[in-house]
Amino acid sequence: MAILKILTDTNPRLRKISKEVDSVTPKIQTLLNDMVETMRKHQGVGLAAPQVGILKRIVVIETTPDEVHKFINPVIIESAGEQVGDEGCLSVPLKSGIVNRPNYVKVKALNENGEEIIVEGTELFARCVCHELDHLEGILYTDIANKITTYDEDGNEILVEEKK
Ligand code: ZN
Repeated sequence: MAILKILTDTNPRLRKISKEVDSVTPKIQTLLNDMVETMRKHQGVGLAAPQVGILKRIVVIETTPDEVHKFINPVIIESAGEQVGDEGCLSVPLKSGIVNRPNYVKVKALNENGEEIIVEGTELFARCVCHELDHLEGILYTDIANKITTYDEDGNEILVEEKK
């Protein structure tokens, strides 16, 4: 396994639309494992392939420790409710934002063996799925946040931007 380099928000690859995966090859399985390792190394709860420079529809999510989801070609097939809360992104260092998301989502995807799976969840899982799937469309949470706070290296707030 390998730790991959995470692109940050000025990189134009983060703004591209990712392509569907045609077949789940050993190379894709290696990428999934590397993405999980990279996410854990940075203490993230989710990571999308474009964040490591690969424009494929692949995300990994671990909102509950040791319960890793590896989603290939994920699609949200149902969502409900609303939650308003804090969000951050490994590709947008030293910022956090308040983002409205559905409180429940049901996702259809392929797993690492190329089998179709359906997974549902609420709260942080739902937020994370929406955030990671946005990455596949070239959208960052800072595009849709109501309020964005910028911090210095010591964690002190240095700027608060409110959007109307
Ligand atoms: Zn992100």
